[in-house]
Amino acid sequence: MTEGIITVAYIAASILFILALGGLSHPESSRRGNLYGMTGMTIAILATVLGAQVTGYATILVCMGLGGAIGMVLAKRVEMTQMPELVAILHSFVGLAAVLVGYASYLDPEAAFQGVERTIHEIEIFVGVLIGAVTFTGSVVAFGKLRGIVTSKPLLLPGRHWLNLGLLLLSVWLGVEFVGEVGEHGLGMMALVIMTILALAFGVHMVMAIGGADMPVVVSMLNSYSGWAAAATGFMLANDLLIVTGALVGSSGAILSYIMCRAMNRRFLAVIAGGFGTSGGQGAATGEEQGEVVATSPEETAELLKAAREVIIVPGYGMAVAQAQHIINEITRKLRQQGVNVRFGIHPVAGRMPGHMNVLLAEAKVPYDIVFEMDELNEDFPSTDVVLVIGANDIVNPAAQENPDSPIAGMPVLEVWKAKTVIVMKRSMATGYAGVENPLFFKENTRMLFGDAKKSAEAILASL
Ligand code: NDP
Repeated sequence: MTEGIITVAYIAASILFILALGGLSHPESSRRGNLYGMTGMTIAILATVLGAQVTGYATILVCMGLGGAIGMVLAKRVEMTQMPELVAILHSFVGLAAVLVGYASYLDPEAAFQGVERTIHEIEIFVGVLIGAVTFTGSVVAFGKLRGIVTSKPLLLPGRHWLNLGLLLLSVWLGVEFVGEVGEHGLGMMALVIMTILALAFGVHMVMAIGGADMPVVVSMLNSYSGWAAAATGFMLANDLLIVTGALVGSSGAILSYIMCRAMNRRFLAVIAGGFGTSGGQGAATGEEQGEVVATSPEETAELLKAAREVIIVPGYGMAVAQAQHIINEITRKLRQQGVNVRFGIHPVAGRMPGHMNVLLAEAKVPYDIVFEMDELNEDFPSTDVVLVIGANDIVNPAAQENPDSPIAGMPVLEVWKAKTVIVMKRSMATGYAGVENPLFFKENTRMLFGDAKKSAEAILASL
């Protein structure tokens, strides 16, 4: 392929990636957005493989075949609830790739950069390896936390901010040494290796310090980092498409992190600095009784639903675990046929990844026009007859508003307790992701429907 054709292919792929992002911003256009993305990626891969930089086709084909096969098996096997883990571990690959490309281009005997160009290239390598290493270990720890292998409690080392600042200053100094070193590779290599070790440690420390409820922000932040790592790789390899794609991922990840911080009433810097989600504060799970809990049955729930005019369903992580969305859709259809106005209320961080609930409801074919964001219907709860909370906990916790000492104080929540009756479907009195006790369960107008959400929903449907 000639240079010209490759440039055209790269521009076409970049435009398709931008269209893909645009499409993904709405459920109805998301399928088209995905198609644009897939087409763009196919063009990008073809143009790269057929370009001048690639010579050993056999190696490339074997690697692509192996990688593609592993990816396909993993993607087929992974459950919706494990999606964030998969995303986290995929980010770590981008980080690792940036580190390896950085080392390879530093050691490349054919690279003949001189003067200013050489300095620029070395800065690219240093920054690329730095971001890549932080992304790599940060994502591995995030994967461990989401999977439950690593504790979700924040690790708070004494003087951790000073430690981070020290690591940063040390890295800057090493960078100056690395770029300033002329001639032999020995000293420069040493600076690069030491910085890599520090950056790897920094990635671990950064994510270890972030606790429970802040994890969604961390995942989207690592998404952003992986974009910048890819962009840095693009600079090292002088590949324009990689720079553009990396920048798109980097900036959209940053915007998403910002939106999520706003949804959780957290300052972005406070999240990065860590320490949130400690279960030591007041209102954290203590196991103490807070009052009477009233249990109910599926039959009674069905009666309440039938008699209601306005119903709001609030799904959470437990609906994903139980895979109750299809039955819930059936219940919704039945109630709507009987003239009940049923709507869904979605919290921005319900479940374990952004958009988790929207994906599940779309899969179950719940009509888009009855699915609302938290802000769109938070004022409607006082005029609602029945709220059905399905496997949600933190996102409907009144302590966020009522208890300034609660670890989730200030986080916007769905004000379900303002409805006439609230039915909470969950298996036990266990806490949610943030490990915080939920006073909603003890309110006078709350009824607990204990059991697996899918089994309870099936029983409700049968009664209806
Ligand atoms: P929570 O994790 O707060 O609560 C889920 C509840 O579901 C649990 O209390 C559990 O109670 C119940 N549950 C689990 N399995 C079942 C089942 N099979 N049937 C019925 N109930 C079940 O979920 P929310 O959606 O309310 O809140 C999300 C939390 O996750 C927030 O703290 C958020 O910050 C965090 N988070 C969000 C991410 C995102 O991007 N959306 C990513 C990572 C974390 P029991 O065990 O008693 O059944």
